[in-house]
Amino acid sequence: MVARVKKFWPWLGNIVEAVTTVAHGMWVTASVWLRTYRPERKAFTELFEYPELPVPVAARYRGFHRFDLTTCIACDQCAKACPVDCIYIGKQRVEGGKGFKVTGFTIDYSKCMFCALCVEPCPVDCIFMGATHDLSCYTRDGCLVDFSRLPLDVAWGRATLNPTAVYQSKQVTHPVHGGPNQPA
Ligand code: SF4
Ligand code: SF4
Repeated sequence: MVARVKKFWPWLGNIVEAVTTVAHGMWVTASVWLRTYRPERKAFTELFEYPELPVPVAARYRGFHRFDLTTCIACDQCAKACPVDCIYIGKQRVEGGKGFKVTGFTIDYSKCMFCALCVEPCPVDCIFMGATHDLSCYTRDGCLVDFSRLPLDVAWGRATLNPTAVYQSKQVTHPVHGGPNQPA
């Protein structure tokens, strides 16, 4: 008899725990389901005028890069830090002066994994992760973005990086600015 009583309480405790756990799970499910019927709930396109206006992102969001051609000194630190080698920097020595001129700054977004390791080593703070979160393209060539051919405002994130700007940058044959060592 005593042995039976000893087994009864753990058995009852297991049943109570099982019932309360299931009830809690059902309550979470039901509360989320009921929330979908709130009148203020809107569809995504009612809340955000995307793609006309960008969707707000968190302050430290890691989107497509921002790059400032006017201050980049072509030191290669970002390219060396990139774990997948997807930054290609073209440069030429400044004639009669010090340093280099950037002739190309391409990031291959078919390889980039948005880790931000390229941002930390930059000695002049001219590359950051941006807020643009999409860059649709029909070909792989559209994933190759040469920031030195983009308008400065687009490259630096004051205007949204978009497929049209990237497409138009493919027609540009020279960097849009001479860099810090040789103003265009
Ligand atoms: S975010 Fe990471 S993968 Fe992308 S370019 Fe920078 S270092 Fe390379
Ligand atoms: S972006 Fe910064 S780290 Fe990369 S080459 Fe230019 S100056 Fe150097």
